[in-house]
Amino acid sequence: MASAESPTPAGMVEGRVVRADARLFHVEVDGRTLPAAPRGKLFEELGRRKNPVAVGDLVRLDVSGTPASIEEVLPRRNYLGRLASAHDPREQVLVANVDQLFVIGSLRKPGFSSNRTDRILAACFWHDIPAVLVLNKIDLARPGEVEDIRATYELAGVDVLATCATEGIGIDALRERLRDKVSVFYGASGAGKSSLLNAIQPGLNIKVGKISRYWETGKHTTTFSQLHRLDLGGWVIDTPGIRVFRLHGLTPGELRGLFPEFASFAARCRYPDCSHDHEPECAVFDAVEAGEIPHTRYASYVEMLDEMTEPVEEEVPLDPEQEGD
Ligand code: GDP
Ligand code: ZN
Repeated sequence: MASAESPTPAGMVEGRVVRADARLFHVEVDGRTLPAAPRGKLFEELGRRKNPVAVGDLVRLDVSGTPASIEEVLPRRNYLGRLASAHDPREQVLVANVDQLFVIGSLRKPGFSSNRTDRILAACFWHDIPAVLVLNKIDLARPGEVEDIRATYELAGVDVLATCATEGIGIDALRERLRDKVSVFYGASGAGKSSLLNAIQPGLNIKVGKISRYWETGKHTTTFSQLHRLDLGGWVIDTPGIRVFRLHGLTPGELRGLFPEFASFAARCRYPDCSHDHEPECAVFDAVEAGEIPHTRYASYVEMLDEMTEPVEEEVPLDPEQEGD
């Protein structure tokens, strides 16, 4: 893997981080996967960031010891980050160097969550990562449900695919989108990420969980992000379910821009810097009342706006490194 920046120094190799556990990383170098640990210096240079290395990173490794040492993280083309937790104001980088993100939402077990979907879509807009919404388990949908959700998200400029992993519906369309790209699968535990990946490429043999176990007890089967190489070309990063995705380091004005369907109405608000929350003569609020903006999208926006000004309450995750559902 060549870097455009500078030649690889003697004794070093370059690779791609394919899996991140709490402290140990797995780095693919010329088709082999090596365990590697970041050198201490990388933690000293973090600043407002929580983690120095993420899945998808291109890194320089010193392979003279075991595990290998990650000496340097090469410049990122992009990344997806979030607020580490309600108690940790730093930014946690979840994945780096990706072409697109698929929000996997199931219609039942667990039911579709507008709030979860809207949060990750806002994050993708913020980080300039194209996002696609995948509605899985359409076999369990109520009549008209898929169409309603599709209309909501197409209004927000998001492409929507409908799938049923167990019956193989919509898999070909998904496969075409993945070809030769680095893609992220994001969604609640139990939404069907593993089932979809196995349908796309049966040889991956990703463990499919039993909903009744983790969905009801709060346990999850996927505890780390992992990058899988696809036979058709490209990579997929499978991420663990995240309970609440909060964006890091943006202002209320920037948040407004992450809901693109508000824009044409916002131009008619009485105040040019209207937050669409409490102001009189707010054209966005009127559009919600008139059914021109879906109330679920507005509710997600207001909740995210409130979090910027009020302290958030959150139960402490069992394992803060890998907060899951
Ligand atoms: P993950 O946690 O997102 O990886 O979800 P899994 O792939 O482990 O799937 C969770 C459960 O949902 C499993 O029991 C799957 O068999 C089931 N499942 C996945 N896709 C579908 C689907 O399209 N329809 C139905 N009815 N069940 C599905
Ligand atoms: Zn307004």
